[in-house]
Amino acid sequence: MTHTSRRDFLSAVAVTTAGAAALGATVPASAAQAQHTSKAPGQVPGVYRWTVGAITVTAIADGYSTLPLAIVPGATPEAADALAREAFLPTGDLPCIVNTFVIDTPSKRLLVDTGFGPGPGLHTGKIWENLTAAGIAPSEIDALVLTHGHPDHIAGMLTKEGKAAFPNAELFVHAREHAYWTDDAAQSKAPDFQKGWFDLFRTSAAAYAKRTTLFDRNDQEIVSGVRVLELFGHTPGHSGLHLSDGNQEHLIWADIVHFPHLQFARPEWGVGFDVDPDLAGKARKTMLDMAATDRIGVSGMHLAFPAVGHVVTRGKAYAFEQSRWQFDL
Ligand SMILES: [Zn+2]
Repeated sequence: MTHTSRRDFLSAVAVTTAGAAALGATVPASAAQAQHTSKAPGQVPGVYRWTVGAITVTAIADGYSTLPLAIVPGATPEAADALAREAFLPTGDLPCIVNTFVIDTPSKRLLVDTGFGPGPGLHTGKIWENLTAAGIAPSEIDALVLTHGHPDHIAGMLTKEGKAAFPNAELFVHAREHAYWTDDAAQSKAPDFQKGWFDLFRTSAAAYAKRTTLFDRNDQEIVSGVRVLELFGHTPGHSGLHLSDGNQEHLIWADIVHFPHLQFARPEWGVGFDVDPDLAGKARKTMLDMAATDRIGVSGMHLAFPAVGHVVTRGKAYAFEQSRWQFDL
């Protein structure tokens, strides 16, 4: 629509409204007037469902944190800001979305990761209100699957009193991941700011110690229709999940991408938390290629909520096509 035709269109609407008023019709107050007189209602719950055959996945938002651009090695402020502007996002510091997912299979209810919890400077810890909004009680979770041991994935494992927040859940985590975060030598070698992360993992995992299953191979089935995807590099046992039922499938790729507006365009950019940056880069490339080539839907813990869509190729890089709202479940 040109500027002129848009103006004509708007004045035609104005004439129609005035005409309706002149004829005695009720003209509703404008939306702008309504907003000025009512209290701001706040955001709706961060919950979204879709299906993979007989499996229902529910994305549960935990919130977001903000990280400095320096967390992306190799990204210059100029290049990163240009990509932010292209995506209509603020330049400078990077928002990092945090998602968790509930997977309802015909036999079990799984929760994948538990979010970052509340904390200074964090806008996370919303998993609880969103689980409630989704009608899911923590006691109804049969299995808690950890993609890896970073705090933004495990900080919701315990109650304030230090008990298992999911009292009936069996804990599933990769054997390598469990070994890493419980290894004294790894803790002493880790950067200072990460040393406390090992303690958090140990304390959190201890509450589930009597009902923990360590998985240790790619394609291993955790429950019917849910298989392990080994995606090592970000952490030593970093894993995603492959969901399938009949001819439908879906990937939950955990932390393959942290900043969608940067890393689909520049998949060679990793994140400073990568324990093995080269291996993490290979896993990212493999997953992006696989999702785009095989046209498999993906979800991620740091994709923009509700974090469900497809990867498409754009020359030598990629882009993310968010899925349409699924009305019928
Ligand atoms: Zn993460």
